Amino acid sequence: MKKVGILGGGQLGRMMLQAAANYPVETHVLENDATCPSAHLCHHFVKGSITDFETVYQFGKGLDALTIEIEAVNVDALEKLEAEGVRVIPKPAALRTIKNKVHQKEFYANNSIKTAPFIITKDLAVTRANASFLPAVHKIAEGGYDGKGVQVLETEADIEKGFDAPSVLEKMVTIDKEIAQMIAVNEKGETALFPTVDMVFDPRLNLLDFQISPAQLPDAVLWKVEALSLAVVKGLKSPGLFAVELFVDKAGEVYVNETAPRVHNSGHHTIEGNYSSQFDMLWRILLEYPLGNPDPILPAAIVNVLGAPGHDGPAYYEGLEEVLAMDQVFVHLYGKKQTKPGRKMGHVTIISAERQDLIYKAHRIKEYLKVITK
Ligand code: ADP
Repeated sequence: MKKVGILGGGQLGRMMLQAAANYPVETHVLENDATCPSAHLCHHFVKGSITDFETVYQFGKGLDALTIEIEAVNVDALEKLEAEGVRVIPKPAALRTIKNKVHQKEFYANNSIKTAPFIITKDLAVTRANASFLPAVHKIAEGGYDGKGVQVLETEADIEKGFDAPSVLEKMVTIDKEIAQMIAVNEKGETALFPTVDMVFDPRLNLLDFQISPAQLPDAVLWKVEALSLAVVKGLKSPGLFAVELFVDKAGEVYVNETAPRVHNSGHHTIEGNYSSQFDMLWRILLEYPLGNPDPILPAAIVNVLGAPGHDGPAYYEGLEEVLAMDQVFVHLYGKKQTKPGRKMGHVTIISAERQDLIYKAHRIKEYLKVITK
């Protein structure tokens, strides 16, 4: 039986492990928190830091394959493991490119992949000297996640809110839609594209709030989305499961925003909505099986279950019974004991042939289901 390790034991790791139960595989998880969502679902849990060289190296030694649920891992250790024969997916070189937003943007530019125009600012002095580039979005090179490393700089007065560290200063795009394209790539370079996803963000928390797939896009726009996403994975030269996030502007132009080299929130609906889910697809790649069928069984939507504002402490799920009683609705709670405002506690998938039904139910779920403390 192959031994496969996952760096990180959050909800993505948990859903990977749920899908792994279908295959002959021995699972290993490395995570600092022994009460994490994955700890009791894997065969071997190791408590330790995914950013520490020696810890990651010792964890990976002797495994057949290794993957990640988050980019913030020790890439040097992964490179050493790869050199010693462990199949690391995604490849450490691709991870290095993606992990740093400056390198990621340079990768798009060097591979003629359309992305918003940008300059690199090593500190705020450089940003101040480029005030004429505004309005723009400032993105810190490393360490930002879930909107925390992103600042909108509309006017010169906003510059002081920017990052005094290496960052990308990116021209503001007049976004009409945000789209995600999940793509699977195996060792032979064969690809499988999932249907595109329309992403809708919560403007207050800057977290994904609601998504629907397939996205409603004119054919010409869909072709651009697919072509750009294929160019991204071709350029990265790595097997794996990738989520390419793109912007569509009012003129129908498509820009790559960013890429995640791993399973992603924008693919969670594929568990019930598609013949092969993003998690199933990743196991097929890790275990060197044929790629699965990414086609939709039915259109799907997901609602993120986020910690309610003002509630910090042991989680209680208000309205759960009402949501569980709904037809073609699937609740996924990640098993996190503590809630905080905006914390990702779970998601709910809806499948239906009718787009209107998806939207109606998504709104009802948002109204009913609240993560609070009692
Ligand atoms: P994160 O990695 O934190 O998710 P993103 O780079 O995806 O950060 O940016 C977060 C959000 O900010 C995007 O989903 C989008 O709504 C907005 N945004 C990012 N870049 C631009 C841009 N160039 N123009 C307009 N809005 C942008």
